[in-house]
Amino acid sequence: MSAPVLHGILDGIGGTPLVELTGLLPRFGSRVFAKLEAFNPGGSVKDRSALSMLLGRIRSGDLVPGRSTVVESSSGNLAIGMAQICRYFGIDFICVVDPKTTEQNLAILRAYGVTVDLVTEVDPETRAYLPTRIKRVRELVATIPGAYWPNQYANPRNPLAHERTMREIAEALDGRVDYLFCSTGTGGTLTGCARYIREHRLPTTLVGVDALGSVLFGGASGPRLLPGHGAAVRPALFDPALADEVVHVSDLECVVGCRTLTDREAILAGGSSGAVTAALGKFAARIPAGRNVVLIFPDRGDRYLDSIYSDDWVRAHFGEVSHLWQEPDLFMAVGAC
Ligand code: PMP
Repeated sequence: MSAPVLHGILDGIGGTPLVELTGLLPRFGSRVFAKLEAFNPGGSVKDRSALSMLLGRIRSGDLVPGRSTVVESSSGNLAIGMAQICRYFGIDFICVVDPKTTEQNLAILRAYGVTVDLVTEVDPETRAYLPTRIKRVRELVATIPGAYWPNQYANPRNPLAHERTMREIAEALDGRVDYLFCSTGTGGTLTGCARYIREHRLPTTLVGVDALGSVLFGGASGPRLLPGHGAAVRPALFDPALADEVVHVSDLECVVGCRTLTDREAILAGGSSGAVTAALGKFAARIPAGRNVVLIFPDRGDRYLDSIYSDDWVRAHFGEVSHLWQEPDLFMAVGAC
């Protein structure tokens, strides 16, 4: 198959590979596939959401270079996706971030010419940065002429982008997707996939994967170390009932999931990919033989070299745990850690 010529970098968004994982669970009677969203040009699943939220407004002339400014709050991946699109069309972008945003992501944003606006205070009630970031976005939008806030938490074009994500998965497997493991932040990926599954009457059990300490599925709010998935506030448009099953995963379980993936599949994946992998480890005993199981891997591990893939960082937060990904059977018991 020859590779297509893309008409500009944004043409490369979507159409990511689905890879069968053969070494992860050697004695598992079902096939496991990973949708590698790191293959999007901005490096994550959020390229799809960013394109979906911005392209229509750019094409219709609502967003104009030199006159419009996009303002958005993001922990990293959506920001990078938007940075790429705004740079491509020459539109100014102010990204509101917090101290959890990594130096590497900040450097990427600056390289795209983004103005980074850092909030430093947590919201006194939720003790999270998100409400403060949103407050800051509102201030900026109210004072900058021509400012536009896509608002990934409430914009229906965010989940809409992921109906295509699910279509790609379903088409690759002739509709035989028995289980889909999907991590959640805004809930955009899960919502879009759920809609496609329902509309096309796929036989899929949708397993929502959330961070321990996230409130998306009604869990208690608590401290979380890893950015990307999980949320301190449930977005208004997110319906937790769209998931048939929910698995909560701790930060350590994400690390174990990621390190296991690297060890057995040579895939260097991001934290939420580790989350869905660990969730599969916890859920696998409930999956009958002969099924197709799909995991969505939202981003790549390069963005977590100073955390998940740093032995010093892992030791500082969890002690000596390397045996967890070096002994095959312990992965299945990852829920115990
Ligand atoms: N994983 C990573 C690495 C992310 O950046 C995000 C989005 N913040 C998610 C998972 C969750 O995706 P969604 O917003 O579509 O729920």
